[in-house]
Parts: sequence; C-alpha cells; structure tokens
Amino acid sequence: MTHSEHATASSDSAAPRRRPLAPDTRRLETRSARAWTEPMAVRSLDSGRYAVDGASGATYTVALPDGDCDCPDRTFRGERCKHLRRVAIEVTEGRVPPPGRRRDRCAGCRREAFVPEDGPPVCDACRPERGNRATDRETGDTVVVGRLTDETAAERAVPGANCTVADYPANGSYPDDDPVVEVVYPFDGPDFDDRRRYAFPLSRLAVPGETPVA
Ligand SMILES: [Zn+2]
Ligand SMILES: [Zn+2]
Repeated sequence: MTHSEHATASSDSAAPRRRPLAPDTRRLETRSARAWTEPMAVRSLDSGRYAVDGASGATYTVALPDGDCDCPDRTFRGERCKHLRRVAIEVTEGRVPPPGRRRDRCAGCRREAFVPEDGPPVCDACRPERGNRATDRETGDTVVVGRLTDETAAERAVPGANCTVADYPANGSYPDDDPVVEVVYPFDGPDFDDRRRYAFPLSRLAVPGETPVA
C-alpha cells in the first residue's frame, strides 16, 4: 500500500535525535577534557600539519597523519597531547580542513569549501569526474567530461584560434579564473581517449550529479 510507504519515508526525516553538543567532560580523561574546554586557536598549514596556539601562549605544530606534536607532553612524555586531540576534534567538527584539503572559494558554486590541497579550487559537489555527462550552457549540447585541469581559462590557449579559453568569444560571460575542463563529444569517434578534446571554462558546463557513462 503506497500510503504506508509514504508514512515510512516521512518518519525518516522526522524530529532529530536528542544529543549533547559537547561530550560530558567529567567523564573524559584530563587531556581530552582540556582539548575540548581550553581556549586554543587552530590553523591548518599544509600536508596535514596544523598550528595550535595554546592557552599558555605557546604555538605548537601538530602533524595529524603522523599523530605527532612538538609540545613537551608529546615529545618528552610520549602522550597523545591536548593539541593533537584538539585538532582531531576541530577536523571532525568541520571547523578546519582535514589533511589534504584547504579552505577556498569553489570556482564552481563560489561557496567556501574544503577543496583538495593541490589542483583547482573545486568542491566535491562541483567537481566534474571523467565520464560525467554535462550540458554546454551556450549551445545546449551534451558533452562528456575528460578531466578537470590545473589551468585557468586565462592560461589555456585554444589551438588554432590564437587566443585563450577566456578570450574565446563564446566564453565572454564566464570568469577568467575558471578552471579548464577538457570534454569530448559523445558521438565523436569510438575510443574515449582518442577523441578530440575541447577546453571549456568550468561554469560553462552544467554537470548534473550523474553516474559516469564512459
Ligand atoms: Zn601537543
Ligand atoms: Zn562548488
């Protein structure tokens, strides 16, 4: 009966479960409690490293993937110190980027996001994957994504046109700093990797979150 299916679906999205926002620090070991409650400032550096300004005024460097910190507690006592724990908490809470990511404005949706540390600033939702179908906003044509490149539209030359992708007449309304996406046409020859690639500014493509087809 379709009626009961509806009832099931709506109960999934009903009132959220009750839960505390922070753990009960009375039940935590001292270092964890201090990680939650002491005033500290965490900044992400690169390669999974974070600078932590501690309550004492000292700044320590945490290397999260190695589980390391250069504070005395970690260095001399070998403890999992409050700085390491604080960084792990802030990563889990989404306050600082996880290792391998940095905070930047996504070139697609123009919202702040944790984008890959290397390569163009594109969030996971906007990142075109090889084989995704996309629609050319100028012509309505369906194209297939080859790859997202490290070049911007202002850096990439159009072969034979003596201009860049940004200067190309049909691309006038897209940002010069858009990352370039190489696409192929679905009907253009049998072998994906042998098809001619065309360079598009990212925002000229409408990419529905679709299952790869190629
Ligand atoms: Zn430490
Ligand atoms: Zn985005």
